[in-house]
Amino acid sequence: MIDSDRPRRLSVLGSTGSIGVNTLDVVDQLGGRDRFEVMALTGNGNLELLAEQARRFGAKLAVTADESQYVALKDLLSGSGTAVAAGSSGLDEAAEMDAGWVMAAIVGTAGLAPTLKAAARGADIALANKECLVSAGSLFVEAVKKGGGRLIPVDSEHSAIFQCLEQDQRHALERIVLTASGGPFRTHSREQMANVTVQTARSHPNWSMGLKISVGSASMFNKALEMIEAKHLFDVAPDQIEVVVHPQSIIHSMVGYTDGSVIAQLGVPDMRTAIGYALTYPKRPALNVDRLDFAKLARLDFEAPDETRFPAIRLARTALERGGLQGAILNAAEETAFNAFVEERIGFLAMADVVERVMDDLAGMAEPASIADVFAADREARRKAAGVIDRL
Ligand code: NAD
Ligand code: MG
Repeated sequence: MIDSDRPRRLSVLGSTGSIGVNTLDVVDQLGGRDRFEVMALTGNGNLELLAEQARRFGAKLAVTADESQYVALKDLLSGSGTAVAAGSSGLDEAAEMDAGWVMAAIVGTAGLAPTLKAAARGADIALANKECLVSAGSLFVEAVKKGGGRLIPVDSEHSAIFQCLEQDQRHALERIVLTASGGPFRTHSREQMANVTVQTARSHPNWSMGLKISVGSASMFNKALEMIEAKHLFDVAPDQIEVVVHPQSIIHSMVGYTDGSVIAQLGVPDMRTAIGYALTYPKRPALNVDRLDFAKLARLDFEAPDETRFPAIRLARTALERGGLQGAILNAAEETAFNAFVEERIGFLAMADVVERVMDDLAGMAEPASIADVFAADREARRKAAGVIDRL
């Protein structure tokens, strides 16, 4: 787009979420409707916001994942010129709209099917929805490759690594270092963590994000997902993936080379930088985000993650070593345990216990031959996790 006078066509799957709203802000900053043609926008709840976005950007299609909200959305958009659809077939329709760039910003495995549809028709995929990679792994990467589009990470750590990777020096890549803020319980004891509420678990010290990723930052399950995401995105071995806790969230991640050099990407914690980078790659956009003031920052701190208090990191390593469907199983069990925690059916620490039990129970599942195997493992892991939760 940025080169040509023709507007760039884009769709945002999950436009009403934290990443979705930031994406549309970036689109506005880069020229809005003069430079971009918004094809499809999708949401789940929050119909008013979805309808407002669709009108503001003149979207061709607006989709609510909730089938029962079809008529309500249709009413909100009457006379707007935006077509309306609902449910999983609606999400597929959104993914199939002719947009060259698709922001995958649905949360959880719910985003996998529509993102695969967009990938199959060759769209460039800006991937925030990390669960696609955690769950389907190399099958997802292959699907994007087969479609002919590019896969550009939006997760801040993976965007950082993507920016630091020197493509012609891949042979000299030694390790990637994912930074983690440590979340709101970085200095809590396990005893303190046992009784935390959803409200405290979701209050991230540096980033403002959706509920699932905020709780995942507190448990470090978000970092666990990101370790598996990194493996598939950058095709590295498990022992090349390190995690370091960096409470200020200024260094977004780093890449280490065989000469001892470490290259890092820094910035204020604002997802719009990574979103803008993915939207205009390989060019850098001009964005109105805060700039780093190093004198004010004064210091950057680092510490090793404590795998006793945060077993999620250990579980990610187990999943990486076991390979196969363990990523899909970890992801589905974690989503089920997260829902139970949010509904106050289990405590904060029980989330990791549930995931570990399900991963061990299903460790014998064969390598996935197709995406259908991934969906089957996802369903089985959810069923097992629900059973473990019921017996707690
Ligand atoms: P969010 O909860 O704020 O938004 C999620 C979006 O998905 C919303 O539009 C919601 O309507 C939609 N959605 C929810 N359930 C759905 C379903 N069952 N079917 C279809 N759509 C559904 O989440 P978020 O924080 O924006 O995160 C989105 C993704 O981006 C996640 O995978 C997250 O891990 C990743 N991510 C987020 C951030 C961040 O700063 N928020 C940073 C890095 C990565
Ligand atoms: Mg991240």
